[in-house]
Amino acid sequence: MSKIIVLGGGESGVGAALLAKSKGFDVFLSDQGTLKEAFKKTLSDHNIRFEEGQHTLEEILSANEVIISPGIPEKNEVVKKIKEKNIPLISEIEFAVRYTSAKIIAITGSNGKTTTTLLTYHLLKEAGYRVGLAGNIGQSFAKQVLENNHEYYVLEISSFQLDRCISFSPDVAILLNITPDHLDRYEYKFENYIASKFRIFQNADLAKTCIFWEDDEVIQANKKGIPSSHFSTISSKNNHCDAFISADKITLKTGEVDLATAPIQGPHNAINMSAAILAAQSVGISLDTIKELLPTFHNAPHRLEPCGLSNGVHFVNDSKATNVDAVYYALNSFNQPIILMMGGVDKGNEYEVLDQLVKDKVKALICLGKDNEKLMTHFSGICEAIFSTDNLQIAVQKSLEWGVDGDVVLLSPACASFDLFKNYEDRGDQFKQTVKQLTHGN
Ligand code: ADP
Repeated sequence: MSKIIVLGGGESGVGAALLAKSKGFDVFLSDQGTLKEAFKKTLSDHNIRFEEGQHTLEEILSANEVIISPGIPEKNEVVKKIKEKNIPLISEIEFAVRYTSAKIIAITGSNGKTTTTLLTYHLLKEAGYRVGLAGNIGQSFAKQVLENNHEYYVLEISSFQLDRCISFSPDVAILLNITPDHLDRYEYKFENYIASKFRIFQNADLAKTCIFWEDDEVIQANKKGIPSSHFSTISSKNNHCDAFISADKITLKTGEVDLATAPIQGPHNAINMSAAILAAQSVGISLDTIKELLPTFHNAPHRLEPCGLSNGVHFVNDSKATNVDAVYYALNSFNQPIILMMGGVDKGNEYEVLDQLVKDKVKALICLGKDNEKLMTHFSGICEAIFSTDNLQIAVQKSLEWGVDGDVVLLSPACASFDLFKNYEDRGDQFKQTVKQLTHGN
């Protein structure tokens, strides 16, 4: 019997193990950390052998194929050994796609994946399609392939998952943008990260539609490999593209979508919306239907999420903005004066790209983190008012002190959250709670 080892027992690993077991493989799941009780029960209930707190090399190296969790890096000793033995290493996505004939819409990019994935899913679902939502989001793709009978899947795909995709060929592939991120996983070489993102198009000759943001210089410079007959492009410069973004609308070949009334605001969301609309159209949903369905979309929290209004000061939670590019777009989303809250664990950020925007729009900067020195040094001389704290309450209090009617207080940190919070969700939730408390829910 062919043997499959699953490395990593999170949502995707457990889903992959279930699917593999049901297809008759000898399955063993191995996790260096501890498994959640619920996952252990699921594995036991399905007679799937597993270990936690260790990787038993002998067992792992007896595999015919290894399905690896996106969280395990290349430099991991076990991964090195698997590669030395030439055992194929694949992602849950690559494995699960073998067992479904559903059409796949796959979305990647450095920023905007979740928003675009959720909106695309919303459009298909509300248009009456039998559609699943998976990838980096929600329930495991493999588990859904096993248990559901979807006609379509909308998948949010990270670069780590793409690294382990070989024959994966989505029917609709979307690449939103590429800016430096996660370079620690790519030998600090941007070109490696770019190559990883472009794997979304690696089998593009089989794809129906390849959607991308044409104005992105990195995409522009690397798009040679994608068959131009499959191009579906988004731009704010080239009005011959498929979705042309201007100040107040998106112009498509089939009509226009008004941006003032759009469910998600800001220039970056115009790109995300264009991508979702082009994807929905490519699977047969008319623009009229799309326009009917757009207003009922609600984005996931922590992405430019309005979270309070007090004495005319608007509070916005953009805790998911964990890199500089996301903050760049967040700042571009407002015309009002901004009190910007930034800081946390710096992933080697280069803040220069924000300088002009900060000069033009940010009236005060509140640095919120354990170590604010880099931020303070960089923006002193660029922003007139700078305040530093490692206490969220004090940060919000300061913003209330500084804020006047018409201002926006924007939490858009450009950094990871692990110095003061559990994760970006915790940071956003605590921000919302503190705002509510200090403004008495006004
Ligand atoms: P991802 O899943 O790729 O992290 P999200 O949709 O969760 O993307 O958005 C993360 C952050 O990135 C948000 O704070 C948002 O302001 C910013 N963002 C969203 N879409 C884009 C885009 N197309 N370009 C640049 N930044 C974006």
